[in-house]
Amino acid sequence: MRLICTKCNEKYPSNGLYYRCKKCNEPLQLAEVTDAKIIKNDNMRQSMLARYREFFPFEKTDDNISLGEGFTPLTQSIVLQKKLGVSKIYLKNESQNPTWSFKDRGTLVGIMHAKELGYRKIGTVSTGNMAPSVAAYGRRANLETFIFVKDDIAQEKLAPIAIYNPNLIRVRGDYGELYFKSLEIGRENDIYFINSDVPFRVEGSKTIAFEIAEQLGFNMPDYVIVPTSAGGNLRGILKGFKELKNCRYIEKVPNIVCAQSTGCSPIVTAAKNGETEISRVENPATIAHAIENPFPPSGNCVLNSLDREHFVSVNDDEIIQGQKLLAEEGVFVQPASAVTVAAIRKLKEQRVVTGNETIVCIVTGSGLKYPTALKSHKLEIHTSNIDRLSSYVIKNFK
Ligand SMILES: *Cc1c(COP(=O)(O)O)cnc(C)c1O
Ligand SMILES: [Zn+2]
Repeated sequence: MRLICTKCNEKYPSNGLYYRCKKCNEPLQLAEVTDAKIIKNDNMRQSMLARYREFFPFEKTDDNISLGEGFTPLTQSIVLQKKLGVSKIYLKNESQNPTWSFKDRGTLVGIMHAKELGYRKIGTVSTGNMAPSVAAYGRRANLETFIFVKDDIAQEKLAPIAIYNPNLIRVRGDYGELYFKSLEIGRENDIYFINSDVPFRVEGSKTIAFEIAEQLGFNMPDYVIVPTSAGGNLRGILKGFKELKNCRYIEKVPNIVCAQSTGCSPIVTAAKNGETEISRVENPATIAHAIENPFPPSGNCVLNSLDREHFVSVNDDEIIQGQKLLAEEGVFVQPASAVTVAAIRKLKEQRVVTGNETIVCIVTGSGLKYPTALKSHKLEIHTSNIDRLSSYVIKNFK
């Protein structure tokens, strides 16, 4: 199996640690799988990686590292269908992963690769969900784990990383530089950095596509909407559908939509301006912190792999409304994930979506991860004395 540059097609071996092309600095990606089968086994005991192992280049996989990631629900969203005027909307609820976001899929696959190459140390750079995911799985796999975070990271995010006891370092300085710096530090110190869009993390996200296909009986949706920051998850989902097509499980790859927040939308902006390369966003500001990468390392790759109609950005108010709408469905997501619902509205306004379609929203992470966002909502809470509770209920809630 080979790694191929997503831009210039230069080839690299997959049995070494290569992240980006030496010639053009664009991300590398494993060659597409063309001949693999889903191994349908006892669902109650099978792991995600065991079910889809023919789609991965591993000699063997170690089920002991799994924390039960993947196999997340795909629920039909009756409230949203009605409110947004779309025939079928499904939510792929990634908040049900072991550390409450889809990151666990790529973390597991990255660790499998690190172990296969004989690494004893892993790491990541993150301010969001990737840090706790890598910390948890690093602990589970008994690997020395390095987590680099921004110096000014909120305490509510710091402690949930520290609980797994990794080597946790707050880094002062240019955070944008840290991604590339970490890869360098990794090379010098034999640390396998499983950053946002490294090839084997992207492989992990393929399983989202595999599961959606299986959950819909291989009847493909028209659109799959993906909240996008670094671009690794979107690339993985797209690759997963392409591989299913290569392997004749499906006939058509669904349209993938790249959804960003207007407060930080380097990829969407480049698409709207007809560019072929993204530009750095100077002062990113959005409530959707999990998708606030001002210079996404897979930005160019995402930009050039989708139809130009399929890039959408939505503002913070629309995101908050989306979060509220999803709660009406009983699903509490973080603002980054609510971007999907807001994007459906926008796609309808732009008449890209007419209303007769089937749409899948990738609900990437749990709302509990970011309780501060709740301050943006007007939430109704009542108070009553116990002796007056009976009359209070009668009076107020007829
Ligand atoms: C990481 C993350 C994203 C963005 O994924 P990328 O692969 O960086 O594009 C979206 N939503 C949540 C909740 C995330 O944690
Ligand atoms: Zn290249």
